[in-house]
Amino acid sequence: MKITLKSRSEIDQMRAAGRVVRQTLLRCREAVRPGITTQEIDQIAYETFTAMGAEGLFKYYPTYEPGKGFPGNTCISVNEEVVHGIPGPRALADGDVVSVDCGIRLNGWCGDSAITVGVGSPSPENLKLIRVAEETLQLAIDSIRPGLPWSAVARKMQAHVESHGFSCVREFVGHGIGRRMHEDPKVPNFTSREFERHSDFYLQVGMVLAVEPMVIAGSEQVVVLDDGWTVISKDSSPAAHVEHTLAVTPGGCEVLTDGN
Ligand code: MG
Ligand code: MG
Repeated sequence: MKITLKSRSEIDQMRAAGRVVRQTLLRCREAVRPGITTQEIDQIAYETFTAMGAEGLFKYYPTYEPGKGFPGNTCISVNEEVVHGIPGPRALADGDVVSVDCGIRLNGWCGDSAITVGVGSPSPENLKLIRVAEETLQLAIDSIRPGLPWSAVARKMQAHVESHGFSCVREFVGHGIGRRMHEDPKVPNFTSREFERHSDFYLQVGMVLAVEPMVIAGSEQVVVLDDGWTVISKDSSPAAHVEHTLAVTPGGCEVLTDGN
């Protein structure tokens, strides 16, 4: 595991990238309504971050050879789709739960963030699912401080999710981020004896992490569809996914993708 720490000025540059992601996701949130297709939302995202001088990190991921890899500019995942949904002709329906995940690079530095939005008039259960995912991310933001092992934060996140009868995805986790979108360490939203023995790490000033709770209303088990990307819940229950890019600071952490 090779964790790169970022200087104050590098973190400020990452905040500039984070602002682009924030603006993009705000535009997407405004666009969400019954009848809009996920590819229309994806196009709004592309136009927003491109106009701000950024390049997308998802299109053709991981090789960035045109025509290969992930086909969208963003990941848009609806209802039982947990993460990595491919934008397409699907029109959103009233009551759907939709997540939009956006990663970009600006002046050599990456930002990565995701929101989950209820379409039209979502059910109270779906609103609760979104709220619990957002609370779980906020709990991490409020808990991070240098010197703590990540497992201490992850344990709180997992406990919050499970206290509402929901579950944390095991197969996909957050990550370090910097000049590249995916850097060490791996940043799970749960802990385990296995993680604590082999992969736990101590939070340090200058670490920049993409923390991204993926919460399923039902069982934690997921399946990848034949398109090779879309991750769905095995029991078809809805999921929510929210993410921020965070920098560890002497007093705790700073959210780099909150638009400030
Ligand atoms: Mg993301
Ligand atoms: Mg991420």
